[in-house]
Amino acid sequence: MPGTELFGVEERKEINDVLETGILFRYNHDEPRKGVWKARDFESEVKKITGARYAHAVSSGSTAVATALAAAGIGAGDEVIVPPFTYIATIEAVLFVGALPVFAEIDETLCLSAAGIEKAVTSKTKAVCLVHMCGGMADMDAIMPVIKKHYLILVEDAGQAFAASYKGTATGLFGKTGCYSFDFFKIATAGEGGVLVTNDEAAYKLADSYADHGHDHIGNNRGMEQHPVLGFNYRISELHAAVGGAQTRKVPHIRTVNNANKKLLMQLLGEVQGISFATLADPDGDSATFLNIFLPDTEAAGRTVAELNKAGEGGFNYWYTNMYHFINQWDHIKEMRTASKLPIEILGAPQDYKNLHLPKSQEVIGRLISFGIRCTWTEDDVRKLAGKITDCVTKALAPVHA
Ligand SMILES: *Cc1c(COP(=O)(O)O)cnc(C)c1O
Repeated sequence: MPGTELFGVEERKEINDVLETGILFRYNHDEPRKGVWKARDFESEVKKITGARYAHAVSSGSTAVATALAAAGIGAGDEVIVPPFTYIATIEAVLFVGALPVFAEIDETLCLSAAGIEKAVTSKTKAVCLVHMCGGMADMDAIMPVIKKHYLILVEDAGQAFAASYKGTATGLFGKTGCYSFDFFKIATAGEGGVLVTNDEAAYKLADSYADHGHDHIGNNRGMEQHPVLGFNYRISELHAAVGGAQTRKVPHIRTVNNANKKLLMQLLGEVQGISFATLADPDGDSATFLNIFLPDTEAAGRTVAELNKAGEGGFNYWYTNMYHFINQWDHIKEMRTASKLPIEILGAPQDYKNLHLPKSQEVIGRLISFGIRCTWTEDDVRKLAGKITDCVTKALAPVHA
């Protein structure tokens, strides 16, 4: 959570600008706000980093995914291919716009694979919600031809891949719409916040209205605005946007330091018997928020986790059993436990979620252990962590366990 590590005077200054005027609302009030427009500033910082033609800040990464889906025209009854490894918000967003998730296989990129998508496509598939996981990116040269061949709509949840890119294009800009999260745990934080990006003007206008009760934001009289579509309140406040802007300006520095730390870790661990790394479809585009290592198999990963815990090393995630990011933990979806009835409960699920056959995803996540990279580490910190990981893996793979 590098952004959170760097919270400081810059963020406080931006917040104070807003506190001076007291205009916490992102729209209108042109005179008393005295030229302070933090949501707009935040959006232009995100455009600078990503090269997106349009960016729209909202209240969270989750509402950004929901807005991205709606603005791409995805709604009730549409079948959407999704990965079984993602933050649950992706699946919730698909369900809550009324669409029907279809789980497909990921591969060693930790993202949906072209083969996984191809295998899951049916005549009813409308879209793919591709998630760029763990700071990295999906293999876009392989995936885009599948999207085009089947005339699918691509929406990208780059919730944890802000400032990552593939061959020069930012994650989030391959599809119709894309989005990032700026929650407390991401490369940059707004406290709570998210940003939708697109190069499509019509999608942007839809998103802009959808995320604010349908307002078209033309003119300076909110009561007299037109409402091209129904929407809801997914707005970001000026206070959150102020923090998001200050943090986003730190992202080029964070990305550089993270990559250097990760490179050294990979160098130190590269020779260790039994360790390999997740595939980076474009190593130059890594935002390097995670070091993702593979053990030879799920049992070896489990033993390594036990050794890491014994050694008091807490800075890792074993998503296979411990985290809310993998389908093995999503019993509420498998049992469709909902607060109130969703469209999928009327239309019927396109798959039997209790009996999904995703052996590749089970194998990949079973072998995966991820370490959060910190941008405040010293070289000594990095070397110590590498030493600890080496010890734990060596112990876990020692023949005594065989
Ligand atoms: C964090 C995250 C989200 C949700 O973002 P919030 O800002 O926490 O709502 C959505 N998708 C992915 C892939 C994420 O990692």
